[in-house]
Amino acid sequence: MIYQLYPYILKNNYFDKFHDECGIFGIYSPYKVDTFSLIQFGLFALQHRGQEACGFSVLRDGFIISHKSEGLVLDFFRKISNSECYHGNAVIGHTRYSTEGGQSKKNIQPFFGEDSYGKSIISIVHNGNLVNAKNIRKKLESKGINFISEYSDSEVILRLIQKYLSESNNSLEKAIQKTTIDIKGAYSVIVLMDNKMAAFRDPNGIRPLCYGMLNEYTYIFSSETCGIDSVGGFYVRDLLPGEMIIVDQKKSIQFSLLTEKKNTKKRICSFEYIYFSRPDSLIENINVYEIREKSGEKLYEQHPVEADVVIGVPDSGVPASIGYSKASGIPFKPILVKNKYIGRSFILPKQEMREKMVNLKLNPILDEIKGKRIVIIDDSIVRGTTSRRLVYILRKAGAKEIHFRSASPPIIGPCYLGVNTPSKKDLISYNHIDKKNIERILNVDSLEFLSMKNLIDILGSIHYCFGCFTGNYPVQKN
Ligand code: AMP
Repeated sequence: MIYQLYPYILKNNYFDKFHDECGIFGIYSPYKVDTFSLIQFGLFALQHRGQEACGFSVLRDGFIISHKSEGLVLDFFRKISNSECYHGNAVIGHTRYSTEGGQSKKNIQPFFGEDSYGKSIISIVHNGNLVNAKNIRKKLESKGINFISEYSDSEVILRLIQKYLSESNNSLEKAIQKTTIDIKGAYSVIVLMDNKMAAFRDPNGIRPLCYGMLNEYTYIFSSETCGIDSVGGFYVRDLLPGEMIIVDQKKSIQFSLLTEKKNTKKRICSFEYIYFSRPDSLIENINVYEIREKSGEKLYEQHPVEADVVIGVPDSGVPASIGYSKASGIPFKPILVKNKYIGRSFILPKQEMREKMVNLKLNPILDEIKGKRIVIIDDSIVRGTTSRRLVYILRKAGAKEIHFRSASPPIIGPCYLGVNTPSKKDLISYNHIDKKNIERILNVDSLEFLSMKNLIDILGSIHYCFGCFTGNYPVQKN
């Protein structure tokens, strides 16, 4: 019966997960620094947020020079032979996983704008998703503004800023402020222009963005603190929802709110803690690892089970399984081995090849599994394809009982604020309200999801977006 699941798993394309989002990074110094190495380190630290493409813009002697391409960060940098051309005093960069705009090369960031002589004068990187970008783009195009991307909400932000800059000599600050009145959705953005760097965040602070310092006058902006750590800087704090920070060659730093405080409402994506961010990152000064470990402890309290071993699905399920093991006393063993070179995205091979690659990404240590009662924990169940596949692998390896635990509540809604989730019809928990049905589909002895109450308890406040678990989003879709 178990083996009959195999063709079902393959037919349902279990490699086709929902997509990750992007990473942004920037460093500003009034003096020349090794921007080439710094951006390489920063983007490498943020590789997990996007593996499709990457790019950067350097400010060198007043000129903005950009370089971008498909591929992983280290491969991309290895191909650059003239690295000394990219030494300047400021740099911004991006790692991409498309949530809007498709995978075309034209959509790789940074996006930059030129003056009438073709010289780059402004460059931006963006993480998030606008809900009204299509309408804005139509309006701008009808006024003769040209776009280079097929469809990218990030380019909409750039063109709006440029439009406002061209109107009555607005400053960069003013142009950004006007832009944020027009755009709606999730955005964390870094802009390079006029020997200044501006970083700003939407009024809900949905996607993360923090800042730190390399020394007393060199500032770092990063999606996650692991980016700041990678260049040897120290983390100062996260940008507030709706906040803009500008640094410039006068070594000054200016903080401002782009909208009145009463119109800002912190709603950080809770999935950042659950899956996206690296466990060594802090978001709002809270360690991501700690939240994941606590979710495992809560999972045991919620529904204790007798078992011989706890396994975490590498990588993001591992801290929760350590927490579960702590709370239950059941030993944790890293006996599901991940091929660490596979990354989060994988170029999908043809169907016949997929059929051969069940254990390519994760392979169990057979002797440790045979005859054992197993608790297996993953950070989330989206379509259910990963979990079905893992159960298949464990059953085949001779597991006696399998108790599946999800370290997050059932996902019942897609995300349109920066994560390319599948549509409702593909979400296993949307289709099956009765947990027993999911247990049957996954072929497990028991299944438990972290409850909403426990997730809120662990995160410790109401300042989060739980849209994919509740269907209530901080920004309505247009
Ligand atoms: P699924 O196989 O569709 O049920 O997806 C759940 C699996 O996808 C879990 O192993 C998660 O670690 C992983 N996952 C969760 N969010 C994402 C994401 N945004 N991109 C890629 N994988 C994810």
